[in-house]
Amino acid sequence: MRLGVDLEGKRLLVVGLARTGMVVSLLCAAYGARVTATDEKPESALPEVAAKLRAAGVTLELGAHNPETFVNQDLIIVSPGVPAKMPPLQLARNRGIPVWSEIELAWRLLRGKLVAITGSNGKTTTTALVGHILQSAKIPVLIGGNIGTPLLARVEASSDSTVTVAEVSSFQLETIEAFRPDVGVLLNLTPDHIDRHNSFEEYARAKQRLFENMLDRDAAVLNADDPEVARRGPAHGQVFWFSRQKRLAAGTFVRGDQILFRREGSEEVLMRRADIPLRGEHNLENVLAASTAAILAGAPVGAIAAAVHTFPGVEHRLEYVAEINGVAFYNDSKATNVDATLKAIEAFPGSLFVILGGKDKGSPYAPLREPLREKAKHVLLIGAAADKIREELEGAVAMESAGTVERAVALAFEQAQPGDTVLLAPACASFDQFENFEQRGRAFKEIVAHLATQHKAQNSTRKA
Ligand code: ADP
Repeated sequence: MRLGVDLEGKRLLVVGLARTGMVVSLLCAAYGARVTATDEKPESALPEVAAKLRAAGVTLELGAHNPETFVNQDLIIVSPGVPAKMPPLQLARNRGIPVWSEIELAWRLLRGKLVAITGSNGKTTTTALVGHILQSAKIPVLIGGNIGTPLLARVEASSDSTVTVAEVSSFQLETIEAFRPDVGVLLNLTPDHIDRHNSFEEYARAKQRLFENMLDRDAAVLNADDPEVARRGPAHGQVFWFSRQKRLAAGTFVRGDQILFRREGSEEVLMRRADIPLRGEHNLENVLAASTAAILAGAPVGAIAAAVHTFPGVEHRLEYVAEINGVAFYNDSKATNVDATLKAIEAFPGSLFVILGGKDKGSPYAPLREPLREKAKHVLLIGAAADKIREELEGAVAMESAGTVERAVALAFEQAQPGDTVLLAPACASFDQFENFEQRGRAFKEIVAHLATQHKAQNSTRKA
């Protein structure tokens, strides 16, 4: 049984008014709560949000947080972007007022099973893949959390027969209380968001909270190849491992060309490696994790191979774009950190033209030196971080300043031979030249599409 929560007549404060805060405010008002919503941004920065919330009867406090308001509540819901240790939140906690993330509230209201997925990289891909496998197995599935739609927005459609698959972040897990997935997946742990979590240990502990409330009947799915994950399993619940390197007693692993699932002494072949359409060893890990989670959520073992085989991947994650004159183009705009770029480079045999740069995030680029020396013919530099990247990669690979994505694509195509690959995997955030990584990825795809049209036109003129 879930704990549930009665919102009728309760004083509820929503902190942070991006997409999640908006959904929480509107739904809680609809459930009968007396909702106040606060954001540090002034009303002039949120005119549409403010109008919508007011129309729904939500009281607004914009431009600053008022500590008085925080201590006069029955419940506070914080949005993922809001620092959990912010002083007015501490004040409220000291007065015994519960401070929850939206996933805590959603979990209390959701019906059916919940599969929750976290980790440093691969969350979105794995969440989408679990959803795809369950859908292919005709299990009614809802997808939510950080992948796009807040979990709370899935409550209404949930029923005793649905499985909800949620991508959850360390920020959301930091402020749970009783949240407990039926199946919890921890993919990997590499340093990320240390600016907000202070230390790796604190960040890892936030992720580990996924398993904190597990009961014996729940299941944890853990990466046996990641030592930081391997030592952070649950105190209660069943443990299923996944591994690219090891043989396992319970879980999913690789043997030769086969992927096997073992449970209670029995072993079944899930698929052949060749059934996986996604590139890269990191995606093999995502497939192992997603298959395990999907089986634990009710998918038949026999349905996994066909479902994985038809998974189209997620936009902007090593996404195949086109081939022009034998040159392939891949969009990995979501590679906004050095580790993701490393994985992208490792996913190709070589002959790469890599587009790097954007807004620097403070991590060293030196780990890219060897992989680039080995696999790249050329690096095209874009955006604000270009000079820093050039300095740190000097001597490892041929580099050229391109400035923009458009120029980078043109320069790469001019020099590329049939069989080469042009890869956008910038290792940087996009905010210097774009609104977000999605816009950067779409721009790349449009430029490549334009190039394809131009190339076709030139070829047909030549032939005429
Ligand atoms: P997240 O939601 O955790 O950010 P995504 O699936 O959106 O994960 O992938 C983010 C980036 O990390 C992409 O560039 C992708 O190619 C890369 N990536 C995906 N899965 C993994 C993994 N298991 N390990 C490392 N990098 C990964």
